[in-house]
Amino acid sequence: MSARDDRALGMDRPITRRDFLNGVAIGAGGLAAGGWLEACSRIPGAAMSTAGGEAQNGAGYYPPSLTGMRGSHPGSYDVGHALANGSYWKSAGTPVATGEHYDLVIVGAGISGLAAAHFFLARQPSARILVLDNHDDVGGHAKRNEFHPRGRLLLANGGTYAIESPFPYSPEAHGVMTALGIDPVALQARCAQPHLYDGLGSAVFFDRETFGTDRLCANEPGRRASAAAPVDAWRTFLATTPLSAAAQRDIARIQAVPTDYWPGVSSDTQKDRLSRMSYRDFLLHVVRAHPDVVPYYQSATHGLYGVGIDAVPALDCWAIEQPGFSGMRLEPGPKGGRLSFTALGAAMPDQPPYFFHFPDGNASIVRLLVRRLIPAAMPGQTVDDVVTARLDYGQLDQPASPVRIRLNSTVIRVRHAGPPASASSVEVTYGRPGAAFTVGAGSVVMACWNMMIPYLCPELPHEQMDALHYGVKVPLCYTAVQIRDRSAFQRLGIRRITTPGMYHTAVSLDVPVSIGDYQFPSAVDEPLVVRMERTPCRPGLSARDQQRAGHADLLGTSFETFERQIRDQLGRVLGGGGFDPARDIEAITVNRWPHGYAYEYNPLWDPDWPVGQRPCDIARRRFGRIAIANSDAAAAAYTDQAIDQAYRAVLELTAPTTG
Ligand SMILES: Cc1cc2nc3c(=O)[nH]c(=O)nc-3n(C[C@H](O)[C@H](O)[C@H](O)COP(=O)(O)OP(=O)(O)OC[C@H]3O[C@@H](n4cnc5c(N)ncnc54)[C@H](O)[C@@H]3O)c2cc1C
Repeated sequence: MSARDDRALGMDRPITRRDFLNGVAIGAGGLAAGGWLEACSRIPGAAMSTAGGEAQNGAGYYPPSLTGMRGSHPGSYDVGHALANGSYWKSAGTPVATGEHYDLVIVGAGISGLAAAHFFLARQPSARILVLDNHDDVGGHAKRNEFHPRGRLLLANGGTYAIESPFPYSPEAHGVMTALGIDPVALQARCAQPHLYDGLGSAVFFDRETFGTDRLCANEPGRRASAAAPVDAWRTFLATTPLSAAAQRDIARIQAVPTDYWPGVSSDTQKDRLSRMSYRDFLLHVVRAHPDVVPYYQSATHGLYGVGIDAVPALDCWAIEQPGFSGMRLEPGPKGGRLSFTALGAAMPDQPPYFFHFPDGNASIVRLLVRRLIPAAMPGQTVDDVVTARLDYGQLDQPASPVRIRLNSTVIRVRHAGPPASASSVEVTYGRPGAAFTVGAGSVVMACWNMMIPYLCPELPHEQMDALHYGVKVPLCYTAVQIRDRSAFQRLGIRRITTPGMYHTAVSLDVPVSIGDYQFPSAVDEPLVVRMERTPCRPGLSARDQQRAGHADLLGTSFETFERQIRDQLGRVLGGGGFDPARDIEAITVNRWPHGYAYEYNPLWDPDWPVGQRPCDIARRRFGRIAIANSDAAAAAYTDQAIDQAYRAVLELTAPTTG
C-alpha cells in the first residue's frame, strides 16, 4: 500500500491510539507493563519500591482508558516467555525477599482468581490474601475499554463479553452473582435496549480477494435454523451477491429446503456420524454442495470456537443451529453423538441459561468483585453505579488491606518450603523485567493458565504436567473502534455485517445497554463504538495447530498493521454509506488475546476419555498446598466455569483434612 493510500485511510490522523500519562507520551503500541514501569518512574510520586515496583500506585495510572494494543498488551508476556525459553533467570538474578507472608496467594487476577479470594474469605474471614497478575489491569480476559469522545464516556468489553454459558450457572456461581447484586434476568429486562436499532438489519460483505469483487449485500435472511426464512427470501438475497449460480442454488437449498440425507438411518447413528466429520465435510460430502458455498459459511463458527467450519464437528453445528439439518429428524438433546462443551448446552434447549451484557462486558463482574474484596478501591454501592465508577488503582495493593492485588507481576516459581505433603508454607516468586521478588504463602491457588503451571511448579508429577500442557488456548481478538457517528450504518440500513473473507470476520454496532448513569448513545449523530472480531486461524490444520499458528499471528502483528487493516476494511464495507475512515475513525483499541478461550475438547481430534480422566481432570489435582483454578481447569471457556473451579480449588485447600 502506498503512502498516498495510507493518507486516504487516515493512517496519519492523530487518533487516540497514542496515549499520555501525566504528559508522558506513550507510543502507538499502547503501554507495555514495562512501559508503565518506565513511564511511572518519570512521574513524581510514582517511584517504585523494591518489593513491588508499584507502577499501579502512580498518579494517572488508569489502564481502561488506554487505546492502541490492549488485551494481552505488549510487555505482558515478556517475563513469561523468557521463563519458558529459559532466559529469564540469567537476567533476573537472585530474587529479593519482600518479607511478606499471606494466608493465600492467588496467581491470576481474572474472574477465577478474584472468585477464589471471595470464597476463601467466606471461609477464613481474617485471612490475608495477595493476588498477582502479569497484566497492567485487573480482570484477566474480562477487561474494560473506555473512550472519552468530547467529554462523554463510551464503554466496550475488551474481552469477556457477557454473562452467558451453555448451561445455567451452578449454585456457587449463581451465589457469587447474587452476592454481587447481579440479577441477569432483571438487568436484561431493565437495561437492554433491544429496539434502539430497529430497522437496521444484517448484511454480508463479499470482498474482492475472496469473492472477486467488493460488494455489500444487505437483508441477509436469518441463517439459524430457528430463524428459518422461506426459500424465496433466500433466492432474492442470493441474487444480489457475487456468488456463482451453483453456490446460490446450494445455499438456498441448505437454508430452506429440508432434506433427509440419510433416510432410514437412526437418529443415534446419524448423530454419531455427524460428530466425526467437520461441518465443511458435511456440506461438501453429505449435502453435496458446490465448493463455492464454503467461503460463505467458513467463519460462521469463529466467534464461538475460534476456528472455522473445517475444524468444528457437524454435530456441534446442528446443536448451535447452523443450517442444513432441518430434514434429518435428529432427536433433540445430547443423546447419540459426542458434542463439545459449548454445543452440549445448546443441545439442551430445556435448560436456557440467562444472558446479560454489561456495557464493559464481564469487566463489571470483576469490578464488583474488587469492590467486595477491597472496598476502598471502588466507590459506590450498587450494580448500577459500578458501571461508571472509577477504579482507584492506587488502593489495590495497600499494606493495610487484607486483600491486595499486585499488577505487572508475573509469577515465575511456586514451591513448597519442604516436602509438599508436609510443608507448612509455599514460596511464591514473581518477576518483572530484570528483578524477581518472593513472598510466603500458607496456600496457593493457581488461577492462571494451565500451560504456564509446569514452568512455575517443576515439582509437579510428570503426568500432571503433561495434562496441564494438553490444551492450547484459543487466540482471538476483539477490536473496538470509536467512530464519529453511526450515520453510515443508518444510510445502509444495517447494524451487523459478516465479512467472511476479511481480516476481521465480523463488524457490528455495539450492543445498546444503558445502566445507572451510563447512557448508551441513542442519537444517530453521536459517537459510538463499533466491534470487530478477528480469529487468526489456519484452515487445513488440526484445531490445536490452528490455535498455535493464531497465537504466533497475534503476537507477531504490529498495531500499525491492525490499524491499516481496520481502516481499509471499514472504508470498503461502509463506504457506500458515506463512511470515510480518515474522518470517521476517532480511536482504536485492539484487544488481542493470543491465549484466549480455554481449550474445549473437540470430538474431531480428542479422545473420548473416561470420566475423571480428561486432561483437565488430571491437570487440576491438588498438589500439597497448591490448588488449581481457572476456566482451563474445566476445559470450558465460560465465566461460571471459572467461578466453579475457584470454588473447588478453595474447598480443596480449606477442607478440614488439609488443615
Ligand atoms: C475474547 C474473549 C471473550 C470471551 N467472552 C466470554 C463470554 O461472553 N462469556 C463467558 O462466560 N466467557 C467468555 N470468555 C471466556 C473467559 O475466559 C472466561 O469467562 C473468564 O473470564 C476466564 O476467567 P479466568 O480467571 O479463568 O481466566 P483469565 O481471565 O484468563 O485470568 C487468568 C489471569 O492469570 C494471568 N496469568 C497467567 N499466567 C500468570 C503468571 N505466571 N503470573 C501472573 N498471572 C498470570 C493471566 O494473564 C490472566 O490475567 C471470553 C474469553 C475471551 C478471551
